[in-house]
Amino acid sequence: MSHESAVSHEVETGGEFAETGSEFAARLKVYEGRSAAVARAGKDPVNAPMIRHWCEAMGDTNPAYSGPDAIAPPTMLQAWTMSGLSGRTRGTHAYDELLGLLDEAGYTSVVATDCEQEYLRPLRPGDEITFDSVIESVSEKKTTKLGTGYFVTTRMDVRVGTDLAGTHRFRILKYAPIRQPGRREKPPRPRPVVNRDNAGFWEGVRSRTLLIQRCTGCGTLRHPWLPGCNTCGGLDWGTVEASGEGTVYSYVVMHHPPFPAFDPPYAVGLIELAEGVRMIGNVVGVPYDKVRIGLPVRLEFQDCDEELVLPVWRAQEAQEVQEIQEAQEAQEVQEIQGIQRSREIKGAGA
Ligand SMILES: [Zn+2]
Repeated sequence: MSHESAVSHEVETGGEFAETGSEFAARLKVYEGRSAAVARAGKDPVNAPMIRHWCEAMGDTNPAYSGPDAIAPPTMLQAWTMSGLSGRTRGTHAYDELLGLLDEAGYTSVVATDCEQEYLRPLRPGDEITFDSVIESVSEKKTTKLGTGYFVTTRMDVRVGTDLAGTHRFRILKYAPIRQPGRREKPPRPRPVVNRDNAGFWEGVRSRTLLIQRCTGCGTLRHPWLPGCNTCGGLDWGTVEASGEGTVYSYVVMHHPPFPAFDPPYAVGLIELAEGVRMIGNVVGVPYDKVRIGLPVRLEFQDCDEELVLPVWRAQEAQEVQEIQEAQEAQEVQEIQGIQRSREIKGAGA
């Protein structure tokens, strides 16, 4: 993939910043060919255990990657250069300076756009690799859907001895985000992806029923909706309406990244329905930090906007606590009123 395909529309616009385009572009071009990362050696030589784990994780059973003459999967190239959780890749002064220059000119945001690898020589267990990285190119000024900026491509060269084994190009866009004119309105909540397999579920939600799929052959309930039964392979199915009772089976609290349609922090629960299937939804009616595994919840339908209805899960304990509090408050009010009445009666009798 190239950056041209990653960015669907590139249109020339007038410069938004003080720098004159060509002069600034010339200052950026100076960095082409300069070192982007200090040369280093791979943490481990190319080795069979890492190859085996990779192949298992990828489900790659190619016989070339095992046995006495094994080679490493070429796509593992970057794995041999990674420094691990505790490691740190040291950028060079030149790279930091280039990014700093872009920051100062207002191109403060960054997004990784694509990476390309080239494989020149197979890597085998025992190979000791070294690598370094150069700033290969800085593009002309481009305007993308994200904003105007410059594509910066770095190229990592991976070597065994003096042999170049492969290259890894990594491209970022340093850009000035497009400013939204006028008032920033909260965008609507994203729509669910409705397809042939799950259309019935969403039709049910629109009419405020939560439908669970049920295999006609073996009676197994399932969610999410699927065209076939994982238990018996049967393709015929019907639905049963969920009672709406459930408990929190697991949950996450979303703090970051912020999505414009949502107000973090909020809890997203994996709800185990009384019927046994699980589904994901917001947990409401309780502070996000009071959600816990096992919390009883009850189904509710939330009107997000004019077109969108979503099933959400209201915490029941909080509900009960609230009902008790309300009952106590009502009782206190009655007692106070009772006392006032008796004073009035006494006052009237005096
Ligand atoms: Zn079945």
